[in-house]
Amino acid sequence: MSTIKSSNLGYPRIGENREWKRALESFWNGNISEEELIEKTDEIRLNNLKKQKEQGIDLIPVGDFSLYDHVLDTSATFGIVPERYNYTGGKVDVDTYFAIARGVDDAIASEMTKWFNTNYHYIVPELNNAKPTLVENRALYFYKEAKEKLGIDGKSVILGPITYLQLSKGYEDSEFDQLVDTFTPLYVQILQELAEAGATWVQIDEPIFATNISEDVLAATQKVYETFTKEVPGINLIFQTYFEKVSNYEAIVNLPVKAIGLDFVHGDSLELLKTYGFPKDKVLAAGIVDGRNVWRANLEEKLTVLETIKQFVKEDQLIVQPSSSLLHVPVTKTLEQKIDPVILGGLSFADEKLQEIVILTKGLQEGRTAVEANIKQATEELNNLQATYRSNDQVRKDIANLTAEDAVRHLPFAERIKLQDERFNLPLLPTTSIGSLPQTPEVRSTRTKWRKGEITDQQYEQFVNDNIKRWIEIQEELDIDVLVHGEFERNDMVEYFGEKFNGFSVTEYGWVQSYGSRCVKPPLIFGDVSWDKPITVKESVFAQSYTERPVKGMLTGPVTILNWSFVHDTTPRYDIMKQIALALQKEIEALEENGIKIVQVDEPALREGLPLDHAKWDEYLEASAYAFRLATATAEADTQIHTHMCYSNFEDIFDCIDALDADVISIETSRSHGELVSTFEDNTYTKEIGLGVYDIHSPRIPAVEEIKQNIHRALQTIPPKQFWVNPDCGLKTRKEDETIAALKVMVQAAKEAREEQ
Ligand code: GLN
Ligand code: ZN
Repeated sequence: MSTIKSSNLGYPRIGENREWKRALESFWNGNISEEELIEKTDEIRLNNLKKQKEQGIDLIPVGDFSLYDHVLDTSATFGIVPERYNYTGGKVDVDTYFAIARGVDDAIASEMTKWFNTNYHYIVPELNNAKPTLVENRALYFYKEAKEKLGIDGKSVILGPITYLQLSKGYEDSEFDQLVDTFTPLYVQILQELAEAGATWVQIDEPIFATNISEDVLAATQKVYETFTKEVPGINLIFQTYFEKVSNYEAIVNLPVKAIGLDFVHGDSLELLKTYGFPKDKVLAAGIVDGRNVWRANLEEKLTVLETIKQFVKEDQLIVQPSSSLLHVPVTKTLEQKIDPVILGGLSFADEKLQEIVILTKGLQEGRTAVEANIKQATEELNNLQATYRSNDQVRKDIANLTAEDAVRHLPFAERIKLQDERFNLPLLPTTSIGSLPQTPEVRSTRTKWRKGEITDQQYEQFVNDNIKRWIEIQEELDIDVLVHGEFERNDMVEYFGEKFNGFSVTEYGWVQSYGSRCVKPPLIFGDVSWDKPITVKESVFAQSYTERPVKGMLTGPVTILNWSFVHDTTPRYDIMKQIALALQKEIEALEENGIKIVQVDEPALREGLPLDHAKWDEYLEASAYAFRLATATAEADTQIHTHMCYSNFEDIFDCIDALDADVISIETSRSHGELVSTFEDNTYTKEIGLGVYDIHSPRIPAVEEIKQNIHRALQTIPPKQFWVNPDCGLKTRKEDETIAALKVMVQAAKEAREEQ
């Protein structure tokens, strides 16, 4: 290779206007046929490729597109389908594929969990008794498609065997090497077929190497990649890592492959490069533009970094690329019309990032003068952005003066719970839900009309209130013990607060995929965060006025608001977390003043934000627990603080959960099939817990017996006095009839379990 190449690692699937989401949901609802689904998604995929070609990217990723999730695609490639779906071999059809992802009447969905430290969720492969074979060479299909239809000689993207196996479950550690041996020839076959079709570059994603991995795994990796290179010598393999520096730098860069992809944005890869150098016979694929954040790159600084990197590689053995797939950022900023133009100037979504990549490649290749105008523009926009940063001296002072005691409640849990029991007088195994209730098409379209000014504020408020009132009645009818108002006024649990706190901005089209067709629109934090006036009080008080039962106030916690926003790097992240916590503290006080005595502060993003590098864990966990406690510290002793988390691997954060000092925590579990219960086995956890008893991510209605089984399993570990019965997560994505049917089953199961105590 004689010239420096520009490259991309993956492109957002969802389309500029979330066409992908609509196509999928129409198919699931039976409004379009499978053929139409394929037609629509083919169009989206080809369009995405075309755009990358037009931008001038040299190595365009193919095969990164998915109908749901790329880990599930990898399972489908190898015919890994859990027994309960009655799969009989051959190519995994669309219905089976979606059944694994979403569940069907007679088979629950596979577990879904967070992709490294992102808010993207993947479907966890179940390897139990699987007999992997290559049932469909997807990589080949997409390679050929791009070549034949668009004349693009793409770079195939496949999920590497080590990461795939490390993310799978259903096998013992001792079986790992055996599994590696099983998968190796299957991967070889994929690569050989690609080589035969003329492919020259293949990106093998191995992000697991950005976490701390064992020597055994490393040894297996060495063996696998030796085999790949030996068996398929004609293809250029890129061993691609991202999200953090690699934990075994020297071993990784010396793997027998053509190129190594490293993240030069997260973690100090540059330092490693300077210390240990880089093999002279390899290409370095340098992830230089942040694939996880939306701010414009400082081209001047980036070029300086690239010039340093260049000194360590031979001639022009360099690829310039984003730090990770662009799956984690919105598609294009060109649609944004309402945002402050200065902030807009400082933004860069996927398409703009690709432009940055192309410019940087050119600047590196031809020298700075070739891209002088671009550098100048980037610097100007960034300076303007900096000049408008909304700082707030009072908030800064408040943060600076905080002490450890500021984050401690007045009484310890053992004392608080007595007062709370007295006040609420709930039955054993109390039932509740997680907050949101179905956001029906009507709820969504009414909000859109209101945003467009087609209906008045008053009409919108009336509509929200009608829903709250109706659902208070439904919940009473269902005989749920602690009610929720339903969050009908919220588009999204983070964006909603982003629109109300000072310091945030929101976009109109800045969507990113979270799981399946579900997309979120993270707000931008570009200023110090503060609280002016109550945000949630009106709806909570309205709901409470229609019932004698307690209604939970519903807030999103400081860690989650931070993790699910695009934060500008001017202020240290943990300072912003404290600012958010202080703002939430005021909101909780306002709720209490208005008679709301149970407040849930959701932290579903706490686990996902855990740094991949273990060395950074303590700092993160301490800062997170502090911020959560700060937000809830001033709550009166008889105010019950709940929190909620989803999809968490709790072992790593168990101490932190205890340190949150929340009175009640509800956690997703039903999709991890009870594995989580064991975390509580040693029973040092004395506060109250609701382990989700049914999966809300699936349209399937559970049976009473199933839920009872989940309750029983939990009660073997957790004393009944501590246990709550609730669904896994919020119900916003479910239909109304599904929700009512499922909650009915849940309450029935709770009552039967209660009887047995
Ligand atoms: N209260 C939120 C809801 O019910 C929690 C969502 C979440 O955990 N992601 O939607
Ligand atoms: Zn949840």
